[in-house]
Amino acid sequence: MSLIRKRNFTEDDEGSSKRQSAKYETMAKFYNTNPDQQHLILPRKPEGILIGRSSSCDIKITGVDVSSKHSKLSLANNKVRDYFFLTDLSSNGTFVNGAKLGHGSSVLLKSGDKVSFAKTGGVFIFRYLLDEVNEENKKRSLFDDYIVGKQLGSGHYAIVKEAKNRLTGDIVAVKIFHPNKTSKDSQEDEAKLQQEIDLLLSIDHPNIVKFINRYVEPINQHSVSTYLIMEKVNSGELFERIINKSKLREDETKALFKQLLSGLFYLHQKNIIHRDIKPENILLDITPRQSGQQQQTGPWDENEYDIKVKIADFGLAKFIGELQFTNTLCGTPAYVAPEILSNQINYTTKADLWSAGVLLYVCLCGFPPFSDELAPPNMREQILTAKYAFYSPYWDDITDAALDLISSLLVLSPEERYDVTTAADHEWFRESVSQEDMVMDSLDSTSSKNSLQRSSSMGSVQREPLRNNSHPLSFRHKFASELNSLSYQ
Ligand code: ADP
Repeated sequence: MSLIRKRNFTEDDEGSSKRQSAKYETMAKFYNTNPDQQHLILPRKPEGILIGRSSSCDIKITGVDVSSKHSKLSLANNKVRDYFFLTDLSSNGTFVNGAKLGHGSSVLLKSGDKVSFAKTGGVFIFRYLLDEVNEENKKRSLFDDYIVGKQLGSGHYAIVKEAKNRLTGDIVAVKIFHPNKTSKDSQEDEAKLQQEIDLLLSIDHPNIVKFINRYVEPINQHSVSTYLIMEKVNSGELFERIINKSKLREDETKALFKQLLSGLFYLHQKNIIHRDIKPENILLDITPRQSGQQQQTGPWDENEYDIKVKIADFGLAKFIGELQFTNTLCGTPAYVAPEILSNQINYTTKADLWSAGVLLYVCLCGFPPFSDELAPPNMREQILTAKYAFYSPYWDDITDAALDLISSLLVLSPEERYDVTTAADHEWFRESVSQEDMVMDSLDSTSSKNSLQRSSSMGSVQREPLRNNSHPLSFRHKFASELNSLSYQ
């Protein structure tokens, strides 16, 4: 059992506490998990705080296996805020969250970390004191506000975990970007970035993943990690739905695409270009149907009451840097607009409409319009020349209106390409694909011929036979190996 003698920094040592606080401001506390033992006050002492059995230590703790100088807390600072490093100087170990640090090793302490000194030196919860921090230290730490939980997924730039708000109990998703060097940006650049981030934080639309907060946490003196707190979306990605179903029904696609356009309209009104619209970035919130009698909100599957589309990952370039973002984007360009691929700098919101066109194509037939499987020419050339086709038989049963909308989106010249308003106003959204039509079509042996000729105000769109040597590769086929690990069922 540890015994903490009244030393300079224990809480009930009034006289010395006053002396110390007069000299150093309190920066953090070790809260003793044993209610009969004292908490420890950790002052902002520039030379650091020694903890151990020796009376020369700033904080004296006893215990049979505690070393005379057991651990040291060192004050450090990077651009984000001041923080403590804990260094293990002991023979029997300093433990942080159950893991032994190892003699001579250090770790940055986060609020909520559980620290123990050997077996008998006591167990403490570490916490920075936010109310007492000075002006420069106002920024709160993520770990003060959230308990970070299980991993939800990982992507190019980040991993995504679940987290629980300590105060409200709300469950959110937290995107943890790979560590970055501490920025050397000027104050002006930082203010501009903050302004852009504030704009992203102000976004509030039912079809866009809500962005709740941003934290920048120090990893060490040279690097930081950015954490984005977002609304948690529970039913996986559109990408997984396409793989699971091979392709989506036209009525279902229409209902989902309408919501996508609604979210894009909101972003574009605020002059935000997403730049990375693809099925992996379209998340779905599915409410299950309680019973067969419950009226569904749209043309969903039998067991689904409602589906909300949530556009994710907008504004990413702000967090990972323009260069890295553009490089990754153009590395796998299946959805990327030709003007971005050819490095034109003055691209506009129309770039998202191109990507939306690719996405619509993929939803309806299950494979992408541009791919190396359809070479020659290679995918890049196909995009740069807007070379794609609606292959028969895959497109035979899809309405002309759908093909016409895609053809109005996959247009090389951004000026001639539909914008979000004209897309949302397209005839496809006005005509409903009646169940009756579809049943009739499937019963009719000449259905593909019929649908080729289905009347439409925009005239019939050509379906092309596939060339003998080219084969579109369906998502389901291409990503079959990932099927088992997907969360959407
Ligand atoms: P990256 O942008 O680095 O590629 P992603 O944003 O694609 O990373 O996220 C990786 C994974 O985390 C994806 O599988 C995605 O489904 C999941 N994910 C991302 N955002 C959320 C969220 N808000 N709610 C639930 N899951 C999410």
